[in-house]
Amino acid sequence: MKLKDKVCIVTGAASGIGYGIAKRYISEGAKVVIADLAVDKAQQAADELAKGAPGAAMAVAMDVTSEDQVNAGVAEVVKAWGRVDVLVSNAGIQIVNPLEEYAFSDWKKMLAIHLDGAFLTSKACLPHMYAQGGGAIIFTGSVHSKEASPLKSAYVTAKHGLLGLARVIAKEGAAHGVRANVICPGFVRTPLVDKQIPEQAKELGISEQEVVKKVMLGQTVDGEFTTIEDVAEVALLFAGFETNALTGQSLVVSHGWYME
Ligand code: NAD
Repeated sequence: MKLKDKVCIVTGAASGIGYGIAKRYISEGAKVVIADLAVDKAQQAADELAKGAPGAAMAVAMDVTSEDQVNAGVAEVVKAWGRVDVLVSNAGIQIVNPLEEYAFSDWKKMLAIHLDGAFLTSKACLPHMYAQGGGAIIFTGSVHSKEASPLKSAYVTAKHGLLGLARVIAKEGAAHGVRANVICPGFVRTPLVDKQIPEQAKELGISEQEVVKKVMLGQTVDGEFTTIEDVAEVALLFAGFETNALTGQSLVVSHGWYME
């Protein structure tokens, strides 16, 4: 058991990749906090996850763009479980549009969820990790932390930014035993991606099948979506890797779409 009794906060874990990471962590003995904007779905997810592992999951209401809600959520976790060992800052959304039509309000919303969210959750967890003498912070980046695609100005900008923030945390946190990493998935079939398929088809003037085959999977080595399980495995690697050897690094998990 690589995460026995480790307290792991996963934001955006009521759905998709975050839920998969929470599930994988529980299978390795972790106690997982489902922190999500969608409170009812977060509670439902925690109930499902706790079925096979009583007491292993709790739900916390958290809008990651709100400093008050983030601080209150982390305080609730520390009150209940006494510590924070792993933070997976994963909550995210997607809004696609060409730059000249990209609403400034959407740009700000995207940067707030992806970048303010990573900053605020890290800031709230670090003092607890420092006091304990260690911890792991993991950001869900994307292939778009390294690569650009049309229509995704805010997403690409935010996901690139996460690499910088993780590197700073790696340098500041090292003296306290805190590590920081970024996971960079290719396309994973979740609600976030399902929503984009018709939107991209409309914007690019192609069929939905072409969006999947050419835009999303055209550069992979096997025409396959990256799976939630693929991403969760990397999240487990970073959470359970106890030395500083990998700190500050990002890892692309994309079926060969992007190689470095
Ligand atoms: P998803 O839509 O299935 O899940 C996202 C979750 O985040 C939802 O439960 C939602 O309620 C929550 N959320 C949204 N805004 C929030 C906020 N302000 N505060 C707290 N929670 C909030 O999406 P997903 O595909 O699982 O995406 C998870 C992460 O993975 C995102 O950061 C996304 O950018 C990233 N990612 C996804 C893919 C992909 O192909 N699906 C690829 C690379 C990276």
